[in-house]
Amino acid sequence: MAIPEIAQLFVPGKRICLTTHVNPDGDGLGSEVGLVHLLRGIGVDAIITNPTSTPDRFAFLFSDLPGVDRSAQAVKELRRADAIVVLDIADLSRLGILSSTVKDCGVPVACIDHHVGPGVLPDGPRFVDPTAAATGELIVMLAREAGWPMTAPAARALYVALVTDTGGFRFSNTRPRTLRAAADLVEAGVDTEQVYLDVYANAPVGRPRLLADVLQTLVIEEDRGLAWVTVPPGALERHGVDPDDLDGIVEHARSVRGVRMAMLFREMSGGRIKVSLRSVGNVDVAALARQFGGGGHTKAAGVALPGSLASVQTLMLDAARSALGAATFSA
Ligand code: 5GP
Ligand code: MN
Repeated sequence: MAIPEIAQLFVPGKRICLTTHVNPDGDGLGSEVGLVHLLRGIGVDAIITNPTSTPDRFAFLFSDLPGVDRSAQAVKELRRADAIVVLDIADLSRLGILSSTVKDCGVPVACIDHHVGPGVLPDGPRFVDPTAAATGELIVMLAREAGWPMTAPAARALYVALVTDTGGFRFSNTRPRTLRAAADLVEAGVDTEQVYLDVYANAPVGRPRLLADVLQTLVIEEDRGLAWVTVPPGALERHGVDPDDLDGIVEHARSVRGVRMAMLFREMSGGRIKVSLRSVGNVDVAALARQFGGGGHTKAAGVALPGSLASVQTLMLDAARSALGAATFSA
């Protein structure tokens, strides 16, 4: 693993840009913000340049970092960078409108990530471990190995990364080392209840109303163990919420007894259809997503496809039925 090579990129006075995938989540943003704080602790300034803006839910991470989120000027900042770190990404395509800028930047592009499967990224040191629950867990390891002090603000951001990617330490990616990393963070001063309130209990009223609308669409094929929900067209606008407010809804479909695979379908602004996939037991949804150009983890994956909602549903549901027919069940 390339920890020393990555640590060597962080030199005072160099321009460091951190970036993560489109529609950034708690792990991508928490890892970035945690790394910004850790680097400040060793006298290095870094900025954040993401392809899409920070959802309201995670704005609190930036309250003590004015000016650090430069996503609105990302292309300009990336072109001036001395080094780029891509976080929580296995493939360049996940950088959306920034893909070509990062591909052609000509400076080292380090990658810290925990996704499975091959991807294409420009040259640079890689610290990739699919057995990590979250990219934030890898940042904790990086800090330990590099001897960087764990400050309270860094710990809070990295704890957000761990909590969100493990479903609150409930998913099977929660390993002993995940909990040890979390323990280190709590020791460094995380107010765990405040993180819960900030991430999950500060919702716009539209979020539970959206949940109600989406759950009305639940379909279950009991014999196959397949369940899916669909975001009614226009529902996000109607409730005044953004795609981040859909986070976790697919878990309700997965929560039904006997379900082995769950999906959530939604129309994206660019006219494509986003599919979120979740599984139980040994069903590999990353492999299914990869068949259609997506990716992710064995039990949580995603893909975006062109076409109408109905056509993408037909395509994906058929593929899911085949995959479920082939898989043997052991929860
Ligand atoms: P979610 O369904 O919560 O958006 O994503 C679940 C997992 O699948 C995440 O690890 C995410 O990185 C991955 N994922 C989601 N959408 C895509 C996609 O369009 N392409 C790829 N390669 N991975 C995705
Ligand atoms: Mn992640």
